[in-house]
Formats: sequence, structure tokens, C-alpha cells
Amino acid sequence: MNGEDIEEELCEHCGLCCKIFGDNVIPTAENLFCWIEQGRQEVLKYFFACKNDGTWKNCADLKPEELGDLITVEMRDPINHDYLCGCPFLRRLGRTRYTCGIHDIKPEMCCTYQPWIWGETYFNRCRALKKREKKSRFPS
Ligand code: SF4
Ligand code: SF4
Repeated sequence: MNGEDIEEELCEHCGLCCKIFGDNVIPTAENLFCWIEQGRQEVLKYFFACKNDGTWKNCADLKPEELGDLITVEMRDPINHDYLCGCPFLRRLGRTRYTCGIHDIKPEMCCTYQPWIWGETYFNRCRALKKREKKSRFPS
């Protein structure tokens, strides 16, 4: 999930943080604007926006001028509108190796996620964090 270039090497790509987040991935208005500008319908279609008037709209049908009019955005199945079991962009590369299928344009919350830093996003099951803690306990 992490996207900070400087920290990217730390990530062991176990995919656990993405799995734990499930469908709680929420793009910012800026993310939506970029995806609309780039015509990324295959990404936008997984999100539904609730507008000020209470109506819901698939983000693939949103116009840039509507972005200031949104109350909330949720990740949903584009076909039946159900909640998803997990992020549809998570790709499995190997037995325990995963990657983000939209790494270059992933939501801001994924880009700023740093499970190895104490605070809101701290995630003690992060494999990179465990490796780092082990290293500090048993320096080579
Ligand atoms: S968008 Fe990418 S980084 Fe974010 S939860 Fe999904 S797979 Fe993980
Ligand atoms: S839990 Fe940690 S090691 Fe695993 S993918 Fe997330 S950031 Fe990378």
C-alpha cells in the first residue's frame, strides 16, 4: 500500500495492509479529478459518490464540475453495487507477493500509508515493520 518513494524499498509486498483495508479505500476529490482527466474509467467505475442532494452516481459518470458537490465516496462493485470483500486493484504476483494494479495513480491514502511509523497508520502485522524491529533487536 505504501507509496512514498523513499520508503518503497522497505515494503515486503505481502499485501496484508491492502487486504486489511478491504473496501475502505476512499479517493480524494483530487484523485477523482486526475482519473477523470486521464479517462481512467476502469478505476472510476469501482467508486460511487453521494451528492449533496442525496443521489448516488457511479464515479465513471462524474463530471469535474460535480466534484465540489460530493458528500462521500464509497468503493463498490460496479455491476451490482454491493460492497466488495477487498480492493479490486490488488494483484497477486506469487504465493505471498502482491502488488497494486494502479500503483502510479493509487489513492492518496494508499500513497501516504506508512505502517512502520507510529501513529494513525501504524500496523503491527506489517512484514516490513517486523523485519525492521528484528533488525534493531539483533543488529548484524
Ligand atoms: S489501491 Fe492499491 S495500494 Fe490501495 S489498497 Fe488497493 S491495491 Fe492496495
Ligand atoms: S503490510 Fe507492510 S510489508 Fe506488507 S504490503 Fe503492507 S506495507 Fe508492505
